[in-house]
Amino acid sequence: MRKIGTSLQKIADYLNEHNFHRIVKSTGEKLRIDIQELSDIFKDSFYYGLLVQAKQQVDLRDIYDFEPVVSEEDYNIVQSLSYRRMKPSKPHKLAFYPLRLMVLCSSCGSSMRVGPSTSHTGRKFLYYRCDNKVCSRQKKSIRAKIIFDFIYDFLADGLNLTQADYKRYYEGINGIMGEKREKVQMELNSKRGALKAVKREIDDISLALLKHVDNKGSTIYKSGENKLRTLESKRVEIEADIAKIESQLTDPEKDKLTLEQFLNLSKNAVLLAKSDIPEVKDQICRYLFLNLTVDNDKVASYRLKPPFHEMLKSRHQLPSRGGEN
Ligand SMILES: [Zn+2]
Repeated sequence: MRKIGTSLQKIADYLNEHNFHRIVKSTGEKLRIDIQELSDIFKDSFYYGLLVQAKQQVDLRDIYDFEPVVSEEDYNIVQSLSYRRMKPSKPHKLAFYPLRLMVLCSSCGSSMRVGPSTSHTGRKFLYYRCDNKVCSRQKKSIRAKIIFDFIYDFLADGLNLTQADYKRYYEGINGIMGEKREKVQMELNSKRGALKAVKREIDDISLALLKHVDNKGSTIYKSGENKLRTLESKRVEIEADIAKIESQLTDPEKDKLTLEQFLNLSKNAVLLAKSDIPEVKDQICRYLFLNLTVDNDKVASYRLKPPFHEMLKSRHQLPSRGGEN
């Protein structure tokens, strides 16, 4: 908020210093551009945050050579997580636990809560626990290791996907993305409309304020300034939303694996799943699995994500799928 206040001051100072120049150089229209320039500074610092965020993800993927197997959806999950971490009020990393909302209780079907817990031997392990009070489940929690061992087993021999599978994948993903894009595009249009309205209001008030710049103590100036602050933070908020939505609308071709990447994923899925980085572990599992249902001591059933569901179901012996809807 203070930043915006200062910038307003800057607008005033700038105009006081340069007013003459500007008028000589150009017409009243130039004035508008100056305000826009200044407001772009706010935007820059905002985008700086986004850039840092993007860099983090690029780093992650560079280091682990992971880019090919991150779906748009998963990418955004990580993005929103790193965004929360970057807020200055929270300098410490929040713990990231894999498979959040993906592990379901076989007794009641609700998703199990993930977190570390001390075992009876006194050591800390990661557990998934059913917190549903009316659930009849015997053992409330299950060690994450059991679930991951199941996944490693599942992926151990590679996915054995072929070139023909790739064709199916490619067609399948086209359909999924098409539907998703439509929804996202609609959301984007609505946000852009909102932004336009807010920007217009900001412009109007900024121009009105300039008329009172010599009398900053006046009620009219102060109330305008307040209104401007509110609008500016609203604008930042909407722009953040738009940036987020736009990142989901990247070139659809870029989101698809190439044949080579596809076959590479097929071969190396288990290595990626075994990564020490929980985010990487999570992403590869999320990429292939929709959910896993666990009973007291094992994975009772699982569902793969389309289009992998179709491709892989014939290749692996599925465990009992009774826990499924
Ligand atoms: Zn339960």
